Order: sequence, then C-alpha cells, then structure tokens
Amino acid sequence: MISVDDAVEIVLGEAETLPTMHVVIEGSKGYILSEPVFSDIDFPAFDRVMMDGYALMAASSGEGVILPVDGVVSAGEFRTDPVPEGHAVKIMTGAPLPPGTDAVIQVELTSDAGDGNVKLNAGIESGTNIAVQGEEVKKGVELLPVGLVIDSAVASVMAMAGRAKVNVYSVPRIGILSTGSELVRPSKKIPEPGQIRDSNTYGLNVQCLLWGGVPIRLGNPGDDPDELKRFIEKGLEYNILALTGGVSMGDYDLAPDILREIGVEILFHKVAQKPGKPLLFGKRDKTYVFGLPGNPVAAYLGFELYAGPLIRRMSGDVDFRTEWFKATAAGEFKVKTDRTLLKASKIVWEDGGWKAYPVDSMGSADIFAVVGTNSFVRLKEGKYVVPAGEEVDFFFTRGNHHGTQR
Ligand code: AMP
Ligand code: MG
Repeated sequence: MISVDDAVEIVLGEAETLPTMHVVIEGSKGYILSEPVFSDIDFPAFDRVMMDGYALMAASSGEGVILPVDGVVSAGEFRTDPVPEGHAVKIMTGAPLPPGTDAVIQVELTSDAGDGNVKLNAGIESGTNIAVQGEEVKKGVELLPVGLVIDSAVASVMAMAGRAKVNVYSVPRIGILSTGSELVRPSKKIPEPGQIRDSNTYGLNVQCLLWGGVPIRLGNPGDDPDELKRFIEKGLEYNILALTGGVSMGDYDLAPDILREIGVEILFHKVAQKPGKPLLFGKRDKTYVFGLPGNPVAAYLGFELYAGPLIRRMSGDVDFRTEWFKATAAGEFKVKTDRTLLKASKIVWEDGGWKAYPVDSMGSADIFAVVGTNSFVRLKEGKYVVPAGEEVDFFFTRGNHHGTQR
C-alpha cells in the first residue's frame, strides 16, 4: 500500500502529452496551445482615435477658438490628404488619425458654430484621445505562450493575431466501465431486491467532462470474467480506461487479475487513503488504466485525485498538479483511521479567510453528502478530533464546484 502523495507522483510521472491537432477558434474552448501565437501586426495598427470628436493640431486649440471643419472620417476610412493648418476634421471612435492633426477633442467639449465651423470649449494637449500605433503590442511579439488554456481572452487574441486556426494538444478519450451484477440502469423502476442503480458511470461521465476529457460510457459486463475481459479490451482502445468496482478483495473482484492477464502493468494497487483504498493504476502501451473502487464517493475522489490531473497533463497542461490550500475548520473534523482521511467539505470565504465546513456523511457510499461540496479536506491518520478554529489542508474539486473554483 502506498501513500496518497506517492500515488500522485506515479500518475503524474507517467503522464505524456497527446499528439497535437488543429482547431478553429470557434471550437477551441478549453484546448491547450501547443504552439505560441505571435502578433503579425502592430496593435493598434495605426494611430487610432479613441473618442468621437474633432481631430486637430493641439497647438491651434483653445477655449473659444472657432475652426472650419474639413470633412468627416469614420472608422474604416483612411484619409491621406493632410488637414490644412488651423482646420479640424470631424472624426469617429476607431478611425485613423488623419495627417496634419495630433489630437482629438471630444465632441462634448465642442459646439456647432454654424457655417461648417466648430467652436472649442477647451484647449487640449498633443496626443489627447489617441492610441499610438504599436502602443499596446508591437509586431512580432509572442502574445500567447505554449501551454495556455484557451479561454475567452485567449480566443479574442487569437482572432486579433489573425489565427483562425491554431495548433493544440488533443484531449484524452476516456472509456468508462462499471462492473457488478447488482447494477441496473437509472431508468429501472423499481430495482429488484439486491439490485442498485449504477450511479458511478454517470457521475464519472460529468466529472470527466469537467476535467476536459471526452468520456465514452462502455456499459457493464456484470461480474462474468469473459465478459469483463472483453469490455476491458474494448476500453483499452481509449487513452484512459476508468473502470469502477471489482478492484477490492471480494470473490468477484476480478479486475486486477484480468488486467494483469491481458498485459496491463499494474503501477500501484491500494493507496493508504480513506475512502478509496483499493484504487488501482496501470498502463498498457499508451493507455492508462484506473480501477476505481465501486463505492461512489471513493470512485469520485479517486478520479479527482489521480485521473483528473492525468487528463490535464495529457491535454498539454504539463505542470498541472492539485493545489493544496489551508482553511480554518468551521466545525469538528473527526478522524479515526490508519489511512489519510479525505473528507468532502464545503469551503466558504468568510471574514477574510477560507472556512472549511464538514458535511455529515455515512461514509464512502454516501454520494448524497457530496452534493453541494466543493472540496476535500485532508486529515492525517490517527484517532483525534480537529476542533473548529484549527487549520486544515484542502483542495478544490473540479467534479463539483460551486462558485469558489479558481
Ligand atoms: P465493489 O468495489 O465492486 O466491491 O463495490 C463496492 C460497492 O460499490 C458495492 O456496494 C457496489 O454495489 C457499489 N457499486 C459498484 N459499482 C457501482 C456503480 N457503478 N454505481 C453505484 N454503486 C456501485
Ligand atoms: Mg462489485
């Protein structure tokens, strides 16, 4: 049995990024750049007017000055003939500053003087209301580095840099498999005695999406060894196979032996954590395998701690690791285990700090208690109580997040 930290390191150490591909901006959300993006032009590309008003030479402005208006320039037009000295040009936001002018007086500081003249109600300085060519970004500068997650601002910058398509890392496809003869579909009304509805594959499906992976639900072979082997083989066609159940010590916990038999190298099996001790991680060729415990909270936690970070790294976030933070316990955390205890909790920002609220839970099957939580608090093994007011370590979950997610 290995520690949580060692298990994390084994998973992260195994992670390799997937091949790259092209995406169009419209479909680029959440992908990670595998090439840098450079500016192919200056920003702004010309001296750009930032206010509706009149372009003029600042030297000829002043309170009460009246100037003849020499035409209009709107955004998208480019005036090349110089504005005569002592004249103004009516101009719109976004237009290029015409030659022979060096400032713009906003329309609110002017009034119509009749006969094609404008009256200025103030003097202005050279450069007023002008964004100078290249002042935001110069041509040739790296705008977006490799490894950046494409969010809204990144998509905007890609568009500004003329990148309708960009190279990104592919994201892993994850085959999700449940095992267990007791499992029935959610649509089953009412389950027969002894049956339970499969909840893990549905929870994992959403969890996988929230971590940026592509889930493929593969169904349930029950506990029949040949069927299970067939389903596992199918699952090994994906980048990651996540199976739930069948990895602990019961007579029908067949997954570890079958995995070994078909050539999966088991990198660890059993982690000193509660819940989720039977967790298994392995690899065959380029496919990673998680054997998650059947109990829903254990499966959820196992995915958050190990599978999610692997998805991030395979997707090009090569430095990803779970960030641990400190919070003040807002209630008692009771510990009674010889393994690292991970308790679903609700972290709230209160009075200038994170507060960790414990949730009442009946244990590793009680996924009901996880609803509304956004984190797991980590507690050292032993028999003790952490009273309210003491500091605890926690991480924010992605599979469940409620406003406090980074
Ligand atoms: P196992 O790891 O197969 O021994 O399963 C542990 C517990 O989790 C048992 O009570 C199972 O019935 C339950 N379980 C297994 N798979 C699922 C699933 N897909 N959804 C909900 N509960 C499950
Ligand atoms: Mg089972």
